[in-house]
Amino acid sequence: MRLSQYFLPLLKENPSEAQIVSHRFMLRSGMIRQQSAGLYTWLPLGQRVLSKVENIVADELNKAGCIRVIMPTLQPADLWKESGRYDAYGKEMLRITDRHERDLLYSPTCEEMIVDNFRSFVRSYKSLPINMYQINWKFRDEIRPRFGVMRGREFFMKDGYSFHADIEDAKREYNKMYDVYHKIFARLGLTAIAVNADSGPIGGAVSHEFQVIAETGESALYYDAAFDDIRAGKLAMSSEEMRKLYAAADELHIPEKCPVPKERLREARGIEVGQIFLLGRKYTDAMNVDVTGADGQLQRVEMGTYGIGVSRLLGAIIEASHDDNGIIWPESVAPFDIGLINLRVGDIKCDAICESLYNSLSEQGKEVLYDDTDERAGGKFASMDLIGLPWQIVVGPKGAEKGVVELKNRKTSEKQEFTVDDCLKILLGA
Ligand code: ATP
Ligand code: MG
Repeated sequence: MRLSQYFLPLLKENPSEAQIVSHRFMLRSGMIRQQSAGLYTWLPLGQRVLSKVENIVADELNKAGCIRVIMPTLQPADLWKESGRYDAYGKEMLRITDRHERDLLYSPTCEEMIVDNFRSFVRSYKSLPINMYQINWKFRDEIRPRFGVMRGREFFMKDGYSFHADIEDAKREYNKMYDVYHKIFARLGLTAIAVNADSGPIGGAVSHEFQVIAETGESALYYDAAFDDIRAGKLAMSSEEMRKLYAAADELHIPEKCPVPKERLREARGIEVGQIFLLGRKYTDAMNVDVTGADGQLQRVEMGTYGIGVSRLLGAIIEASHDDNGIIWPESVAPFDIGLINLRVGDIKCDAICESLYNSLSEQGKEVLYDDTDERAGGKFASMDLIGLPWQIVVGPKGAEKGVVELKNRKTSEKQEFTVDDCLKILLGA
């Protein structure tokens, strides 16, 4: 992508409404624009990252045997009246009446609708288990939308739902999702701590929240100090081992009953990036969902439900990975792989080197943002640091004379000169 042909509305000044670093950098780097409280346009750069996060989430779920669907964002109120949640959900639910005076709502979550789909097709235990998910927009009329996409009103969520013949099988799937979630967050460059949590309005007996530690997090957590070693990369543990360590959300942490000695107990703030629930029969009881069992008798279906805040994850990743100059994207989700800076557009040698690098890298499947504008050097450097691409190639007239370019690693700030060929080799991993 040539910057001169792209749409990258960067902000020079710190926006006064942004209280936390991720919100500030998302606005400044032209990723999002607020339309109204908690409602955002995803500008081109933001859209690219959102899609990458979405694809990683989908990829890991697909590998784990989950099946993707899309359900409407508007739901008939009748389903929610049937489950009993229409009145219980409260003001966070946006209620709408259509021209025929039918009550609708904008989906805050989708248990009722997936259950309705399930019961209209599935008759026998032989079809079980089934785990279906969607990645789609949700709306919750949050009383205090804030921190940008962290707590929006409209937000992008992965919601998954599994159906089982018995509770043992639902537990097996729950544990599997627990593992898959760790894999997803690791691919996004995050270490999430799974804390025991209250299941809230979604319901169910067992629940874990996946929390990314950040000072600006809205949740309070308590956990075994071993998690800090895991986060620091000093200790490796399987998710099964991790599960044995103490970790609890604020509301479930009772100091007198905590099994971890005081000196090993850590208290921190976290960003909730996902939550899983062993639901049991909450919705299948309310909505009468049975299948025929092996004995020919009808039996109630057991469920689990699994959410990930896809749009919130962008904020969490930035909170976890930035410096004073801007975002430092993990390679897996960076909007482009490489930023190519031409310091003297119009200089025959600089232009030729840039064009050749741009073409070779693009042909090899690398995503390159080529700054071919005539802005001054300082501005170009600052913009590239702000948007946080993993690699920068700087092509200036002096180096171009000698056929060398400078390669900068955004994360380490390390800069080194290379010939054009060597630069290509490094970036293409050859
Ligand atoms: P919170 O406690 O932060 O309000 P929640 O527990 O109500 O979240 P869930 O119903 O568990 O949310 O939704 C699944 C995931 O969706 C959450 O783990 C979170 O990452 C994300 N999420 C929830 N509400 C919002 C929001 N208002 N803006 C962005 N993401 C959200
Ligand atoms: Mg939650």
